[in-house]
Amino acid sequence: AQKNLEGKTILITGASAGIGEAIAREFVDATGGNIKLVLAARRVRRLAELGQQLGQSGAQVHLASLDVSDGANIDEFFASLPSEFQDIDVLVNNAGKALGIEHAGSIRDEDVEEMFATNVLGLIKMTQTVIRGMKEKNSGDIVQLGSIAGIESYPGGSIYCATKSAVRSFTQAVRKELINTKIRVMEIDPGAVETEFSLVRFGGDPEKAKKVYEGYEPLSAKDIAEVVVFNCSRRQNVVVAESLVFPTAQA
Ligand code: NDP
Repeated sequence: AQKNLEGKTILITGASAGIGEAIAREFVDATGGNIKLVLAARRVRRLAELGQQLGQSGAQVHLASLDVSDGANIDEFFASLPSEFQDIDVLVNNAGKALGIEHAGSIRDEDVEEMFATNVLGLIKMTQTVIRGMKEKNSGDIVQLGSIAGIESYPGGSIYCATKSAVRSFTQAVRKELINTKIRVMEIDPGAVETEFSLVRFGGDPEKAKKVYEGYEPLSAKDIAEVVVFNCSRRQNVVVAESLVFPTAQA
């Protein structure tokens, strides 16, 4: 078991599917269940099954409804955390999405707003809120799910890519602001990972979603979760600041 992680409290946004769910499982595996998890997403029903499974390993799990695109809801979420889950050691800002693959002029205003509200404003407010507690105890890890899309823009991805490059800029600055503390700020930038990401992107159309992963083997959500847990379990003096993780065929 990973001694560095044992007994810690991990908060994961977007834990109801894909990479977030895999990260929750990986933290439990790495600690043999000696861990506290706050699993948050909008679809609490989907969290229930995961919470039950992870609870069987001995992990203490708190499930919470959270829409990170709604600032007031973020405040409510933190205000209603049970006392034993309030001292967050690791925040994983994983909730995020791409909507559509349209040229800039054709993207609907509401999709632009939802991508920025979720991927950027939500991640920023979650980070700001958690930093306050981490500063008081002078420890903690913040893990941001960026993307290769934040480094290399592609046609049809103008808004999504802009959100992820905003995540990267914000994250770099926060890392530097915290340089004299024991708070670590890390970013994971995946290439293609097979999750519900493409289903969400294409409005629930399974045919279009499947096409994204044709002709090569994408990463699994677990591949990313393993990197997150590895990075968080380094000794305190080591920060894996940014991890670019591709399927071999995509690199
Ligand atoms: P999924 O669509 O499989 O999962 C996304 C998760 O985010 C779900 O649990 C969803 O839960 C949650 N979520 C969406 N909107 C909100 C919201 N407003 N508030 C709270 N939770 C929300 O996608 P992935 O697991 O693939 O994506 C996870 C992260 O990884 C994202 O930030 C994505 O941009 C990034 N990424 C993904 C890549 C890929 O190829 N899959 C590549 C690079 C980066 P619910 O709907 O229940 O709220």
